[in-house]
Amino acid sequence: MDCGEGAFQQLKRAGVDLNAVHELFITHHHFDHIGSLFACLGLNMMTHRDRPMNIYGPPGTSQILRHLIAACDIPQAIGFGVPGQSLPHPRDFIVSRDLRPGDVVDIDGIRISCCENTHYRAEDQFGKDGPISLSYRFNAPDRSMVFTGDTGPCRALEKLASGADLLVGELIDADIVFNRIRSQNPNMSNQALRKMLQHFTEHHLTPEDLGELASRAGVSQVVATHIPFMTKSAAEDAEYIRRISTKFSGNVAISEDLAAY
Ligand SMILES: [Zn+2]
Ligand SMILES: [Zn+2]
Repeated sequence: MDCGEGAFQQLKRAGVDLNAVHELFITHHHFDHIGSLFACLGLNMMTHRDRPMNIYGPPGTSQILRHLIAACDIPQAIGFGVPGQSLPHPRDFIVSRDLRPGDVVDIDGIRISCCENTHYRAEDQFGKDGPISLSYRFNAPDRSMVFTGDTGPCRALEKLASGADLLVGELIDADIVFNRIRSQNPNMSNQALRKMLQHFTEHHLTPEDLGELASRAGVSQVVATHIPFMTKSAAEDAEYIRRISTKFSGNVAISEDLAAY
């Protein structure tokens, strides 16, 4: 899921061979979710990938990939600089597919469905022209998982997550993040700061929002994610769990890099 900065280093640390990854799902096109797509193409190229890699995402995903694939022309032509040696071109193994809300994909007995969420716009704007942010549900024969991506509170997402075993949900503490940005960027205008606060409060989930979503959807377990490493601490994790649990009585964990749930 998603391909933010450092994804492939982490994949390696998790003991997963890049060439063994066949499917990549993108939730939306903010840079913290797609920053390593170019590395995805290049590293597969340099390790002679010979199997297709399917990349799914909201409309615009194929266009982004087309440009990144074109940007591989020069590194692919250079290769390792060894005479007679050649590398596959990412256009030969990348297969991209733009998904629209409601689309369904079946892969190896797992059914993947998706809905639009409120990360970019309110639900009364759904269906109109404009960028789309997706949440995904994975139904395996024995287990179901929902990945919210970035989103604000959203009825469509509650429906998508209904009865899921595991909800991997984003959260943001708008006050902490806002105050950090304000103190680190003293030249930012009040108007720019106000817009940013609006984005944090309307387009993301507070810990209470995440608990509410989990509760309304009736999921069994919540794992909270998307917490900046700069602010992550045991004390803050405990506070997030306390706040989520004011709205949700199930199992709650705060995600840790490389952990399994
Ligand atoms: Zn985002
Ligand atoms: Zn994000």
